[in-house]
Amino acid sequence: ELDYAERLARLFGVDLQAQTVHAVDHVDLKIMPGEVVGLVGESGCGKSTLGRVLAGINPQSDGEVLWQGQDRRKLDPAAAHKARLSAQMIFQDPMSSLNPRKRIIDIIGEAPVAHGLVPRAGKDAYVAALMERVGLDPSYRNRYPHQFSGGQRQRIGIARALAVKPQFIVCDESVAALDVSIQAQIINLFMELKRDLGLTYLFISHDLGVVKHISDRVAIMYLGRIVESAPADAFFAQPNHPYTIALLEEVPTIAHRRRNFSPIKGEIPSPLHPPSGCHFHPRCPHAFERCRQQAPKLREIAPGHISACHLNDTQAASPKAKLAAL
Ligand code: SF4
Ligand code: MG
Repeated sequence: ELDYAERLARLFGVDLQAQTVHAVDHVDLKIMPGEVVGLVGESGCGKSTLGRVLAGINPQSDGEVLWQGQDRRKLDPAAAHKARLSAQMIFQDPMSSLNPRKRIIDIIGEAPVAHGLVPRAGKDAYVAALMERVGLDPSYRNRYPHQFSGGQRQRIGIARALAVKPQFIVCDESVAALDVSIQAQIINLFMELKRDLGLTYLFISHDLGVVKHISDRVAIMYLGRIVESAPADAFFAQPNHPYTIALLEEVPTIAHRRRNFSPIKGEIPSPLHPPSGCHFHPRCPHAFERCRQQAPKLREIAPGHISACHLNDTQAASPKAKLAAL
């Protein structure tokens, strides 16, 4: 039995010394056990792909997704199976992720029975307990998904994910489709479950307001790359990357919770043909010659705070002063 950190490490290709994941395109992302990492970016930036890779839904390399470090595929079959169950995903739209022809008892109870986590005879009681755990009335377990509200369906999705006893959950816009008051309830449920079960979350969202509320650490993704990651306090107090700063300036707009927001002037370039050098240069107010030619590397600018911007080659405090110093 691997310990938790080791399992996570093997599962996600995390180098326990460097605590670094490589995925998509030069992604460096820390995910520590018990942590909530908020992953933010505009639509199409690759955050769902990264989440699906981490949850074991998308393959690690299909031409678009490259992994370095330890390879999940090198685990022996038993460990690989365990690893797959240890990482679960909760999606945005529970209606399309729940099979409409199945009863709740089967939606939640089939996988744990199939994987031998629960004896068939114990399925009913197991599902009832899980439903209670996520705030659903267990006497509804023979109903179908369409007989529940959106918030209740998301609770069913959460119970289904919990049923196989995961340690790591990827929430991909898991509250985005819900009314604001229901969002708060579901977020509270996520936090309760984290506290009680010691879960680790990657919380993917375009909504910095939600992310601020829930995350220990925030990572910002732009066109397939993590451009900044920091502990949540430092992230909101001292954002570094020009893209992050632009996103934060738009928070009042984000609070209106537009889907597929594009807060910054200029089109989001196609992820298939990203701009040369720093992918953000066509939209960056501080871009200079080097930005068009050379991709900036992620570097640690403060303890646990990494950012990928050429302006960090100088010690000057503001982007303007940095630019003047270069
Ligand atoms: Fe802007 Fe250049 Fe920094 Fe990219 S590297 S964010 S273009 S200043
Ligand atoms: Mg997405």
